Amino acid sequence: MNDNQKLAELLFPNITKTPADYEKTYPERGLSEGARVSRFAPSPTGFLHLGGLFAAMISRLTVKSSGDGVFFLRIEDTDKKREVEDGVTAIVSGLENFGITFDEGVTGFGTESGDYGPYQQSLRKEIYQSVAKALVLEGKAYPCFCTEDELNSLRAEQEKAGTDIQGYFGEWAKCRNLSFEEQKANIESGKPYTLRLRSQGRPDRRIKFDDLIKGKIEMPENIQDVVLLKTDGIPTYHFAHAVDDHYMRTTHVVRGDEWISSVPLHIELFKSCGFKPPKYAHISPIMKEDNGGKRKLSKRKDPEASVSFYTESGYPKESVIEYLLTIANSNFEDWRRANKTAPQSEFPFNLKKMSASGALFDLNKLNDVSKNVISVMTADEVYDKALAWAKSFDDELYSLLSRDEAFAKGIFSIDRGTAKPRKDIAKWDEIKDYVSYFYKELYTPDYTLPENISKEDAAAVLKAYLEVFDINDDKDAWFAKIKELCEPLGFTPNVKEFKKNPDAYKGHVGDVSTVIRIAVTSRRNTPDLHSIMSLLGADEVKARLEEMINNI
Ligand code: GLU
Repeated sequence: MNDNQKLAELLFPNITKTPADYEKTYPERGLSEGARVSRFAPSPTGFLHLGGLFAAMISRLTVKSSGDGVFFLRIEDTDKKREVEDGVTAIVSGLENFGITFDEGVTGFGTESGDYGPYQQSLRKEIYQSVAKALVLEGKAYPCFCTEDELNSLRAEQEKAGTDIQGYFGEWAKCRNLSFEEQKANIESGKPYTLRLRSQGRPDRRIKFDDLIKGKIEMPENIQDVVLLKTDGIPTYHFAHAVDDHYMRTTHVVRGDEWISSVPLHIELFKSCGFKPPKYAHISPIMKEDNGGKRKLSKRKDPEASVSFYTESGYPKESVIEYLLTIANSNFEDWRRANKTAPQSEFPFNLKKMSASGALFDLNKLNDVSKNVISVMTADEVYDKALAWAKSFDDELYSLLSRDEAFAKGIFSIDRGTAKPRKDIAKWDEIKDYVSYFYKELYTPDYTLPENISKEDAAAVLKAYLEVFDINDDKDAWFAKIKELCEPLGFTPNVKEFKKNPDAYKGHVGDVSTVIRIAVTSRRNTPDLHSIMSLLGADEVKARLEEMINNI
């Protein structure tokens, strides 16, 4: 036995499997040419950041735009400090709420599906250790016995010396060249140790790679002897990334660009292990305007950083995804204009069209996008989704909507399904206000008139209208009657005529219908008034007309 073999046995006496065994357990996937394998790999903190949802969506689209690819969920729970109870369930259901589904991987707390697991890092210790053992055997990794204090004083020393590069490398790496006897004595005396990479990188050499979003990148090679296994034998993110993405046969790593500076290290790790590095696509963070500057959307400062914000406010999942698509690919909006009702899955997503700099988050834009999305839904869809939201977040609305389903669907049908549907609703928490004049429980009359209409004239309009109102009139007859009210009361049915000769009239037909609209709905702007009246019914409309006459 040579020293490497002796060290490997000393460090990993119980590891009998080799990387070659795992090659057989996790064979190449045999997908069709060009099919991609990608993943979403969150830590189970229970908090799903909008940026996480964005990354998951991009990663999924990358796969889905490539034929029979595979998209899987891996839970990165090696950092126990950050783990929260039920974090996994929160992430799985959080993603599911937005239609982000997986082909394989973790499906819930302690459950998973697929042949490339376990998909939870804390269950993969043996796999990491067998790759680590192979690295030790080849002299590419070594145990480091430096304590926290020693590492701190190394840093202080480097600062004092003003070295260009700081860290654990080359001459500074005290444990890099310990003899086997020293290593053995330390281990046998029970000293805690980490396992470090014996980096082959050189400070005078650079590495080039092609990021699928950021383009060609050149950086200095990694020279750091980074930690692969912590003192408890648990891998660092870097090492787990190489091992997992190799054995899970990931072809495309889509992740936040905070990792881009680690790519030289990751490439070295893949190569040291004898693995082929994946393709990388680094996503810029979603930014927010703040005091004239830009900053990352922050979990601490911005409620809209958490995806639960969107669920709670009642943004349909389609709207949030639609908005994220507009910031993902700049041609999405043109595509949408040309394909108004096409499912999002038909959009030809292209990773290369992602913006290399961070997109600016814009709530107003989200609202506009969402109004469009909701405007092309059917009344049944609006009803079902609003009801489902109300069930969790608004008891009163839930009971009103479920009391008379046909009536509620009638409300949502108004002006829907036309070439130019109205865009009134951005999220379900606006529904209560939107439907308020249809429900006694929600309705408070407000007879405030526009400045150009006097109370007397309004009362005269309403009285005259009561005389002719007939719930059975179709829309044309209904409008003809409103026009007929105009002249005897000093208004004109002709808007153009009014504009030519404003002093000759009290107002035009629009003002007359505004008065009626206010009486029936207490609003100046509503969807089609004829439909509203039909839905409210003759008795209710008459009662409202009279009520306003008596109260102004
Ligand atoms: N767990 C890492 C993170 O949450 C995953 C990064 C990756 O996708 O590789 O940042």
